Amino acid sequence: MFDYMMTAEQIKLRDEAREFVKSIPRELILDMDAERVQFPREFLREAGKRNLLGIRIPKEYGGRGLRWVDDIIVAEEMGVASYSLACLWGVGGDIVAEAIVEFGEEELKGEIVIPLLKGEVCAAECLTEPRGGSDFFGSTTKARKVGGDWVITGQKRFIVGAEGADWFMVYAVTNPDAPEHERISCFMVPRTKGVETKYIYGLMGVRGGGAGRLILNEVKVPERFALNGINGGFDVFVRNMIPERLGTSAMTIGSVRPAIEIATRYTSRRKAFGQPIANFQAVGFKVADSVMLLDASRAMVYATARAVDSGTVHPGRVRRMISETKKFVTESAWTIANNCMQVMGGIGYTNIYPLERILRDIRLALIWVGTNEIMDLIIQHEWYKEYLRPETAQISRNVEMDAPNADKEEEKVFE
Ligand SMILES: Cc1cc2nc3c(=O)[nH]c(=O)nc-3n(C[C@H](O)[C@H](O)[C@H](O)COP(=O)(O)OP(=O)(O)OC[C@H]3O[C@@H](n4cnc5c(N)ncnc54)[C@H](O)[C@@H]3O)c2cc1C
Repeated sequence: MFDYMMTAEQIKLRDEAREFVKSIPRELILDMDAERVQFPREFLREAGKRNLLGIRIPKEYGGRGLRWVDDIIVAEEMGVASYSLACLWGVGGDIVAEAIVEFGEEELKGEIVIPLLKGEVCAAECLTEPRGGSDFFGSTTKARKVGGDWVITGQKRFIVGAEGADWFMVYAVTNPDAPEHERISCFMVPRTKGVETKYIYGLMGVRGGGAGRLILNEVKVPERFALNGINGGFDVFVRNMIPERLGTSAMTIGSVRPAIEIATRYTSRRKAFGQPIANFQAVGFKVADSVMLLDASRAMVYATARAVDSGTVHPGRVRRMISETKKFVTESAWTIANNCMQVMGGIGYTNIYPLERILRDIRLALIWVGTNEIMDLIIQHEWYKEYLRPETAQISRNVEMDAPNADKEEEKVFE
């Protein structure tokens, strides 16, 4: 976040996060990228010890009890460590913990959220299936009632943290004949009989975070493990769009920030034609554009965080702002990473600098937690709905009349 906008407490929080990030051994980052480490449990344990998991979760469940404007500060710093570490940080403490606090029974909060935020147990969010991730309602994982329990069968894929998770937040169809919004439930599933994970993907980036396949074979869970009750999964899904996409945006800023720092230092020192290459506009302007995109991204993340924190902004508008933020920030990050690699010349493409890892990592941001095409769909849908509401249309001046021939109604043909 912008330091000039932070309170003294927020600066302290940022510095705590920075201290933690500085303490992460470089070997861990290298080992994760080389997949010598498949799941960095110790990282989450240490974050938990420092009370850096669950920034927005109430203190009674082990969080910090803060707001989104605080959460994005920590999320950005976590991104600096690596995108993979930041994602694991966000999945448990931001996404799963919030869903349980918001929609779970009291008992579950003690059973899962408290140990999760201490870093003693880990959790994964399981939405995407082999048959597709964008189409939430097309879920084929099913649960059927047997006595007082529910028995789940199906598969999920690309699940961050699957390899190390103790708890899986799983969406499954519980009422196939109901309308879409009342068809799906969201269960907390422990690693128990019938749960199998497979670490099978060779990923381009964001490695070492345990992303894998989850296989559920007749897994029995009690009804109280359903968040928001049976058939109440849609509300959990909608609510989760906020931590998934706003959190991802803030982490993405942190993950790409080091690229600009590396490129700025390098281009100030590297000489060609007798002078530092930063003096060539073709180089300096690419860095300038990158800084501009990073600042604009931060401003969007901050404005959206304020909107969510206020609790007064229409949910449709919040959905639009979140989607705009996710799309803008992730596409900007991709441009920034490429700009930074370009101005470094050949050395930027090697593993002498971590730029090539940052570029590989960042590419995922445009695909996951809802692809940017899905962001377009939401932005389009919510904008038309919001703008065409009669209350919205009446707010502005009727600018259509500010044209010389505006009164020629017969020329305004629509069909
Ligand atoms: C490393 C990694 C980690 C991940 N972590 C998780 C995780 O922890 N939990 C989880 O649940 N998922 C996770 N995902 C899954 C990710 O969120 C999905 O891959 C993503 O949502 C897209 O789903 P899909 O791959 O099935 O693509 P599809 O849904 O098949 O989409 C393919 C293409 O079609 C486009 N498309 C689809 N529908 C439309 C439409 N209506 N309009 C326009 N375009 C459309 C998409 O934008 C995309 O370009 C992860 C993925 C990766 C690669």
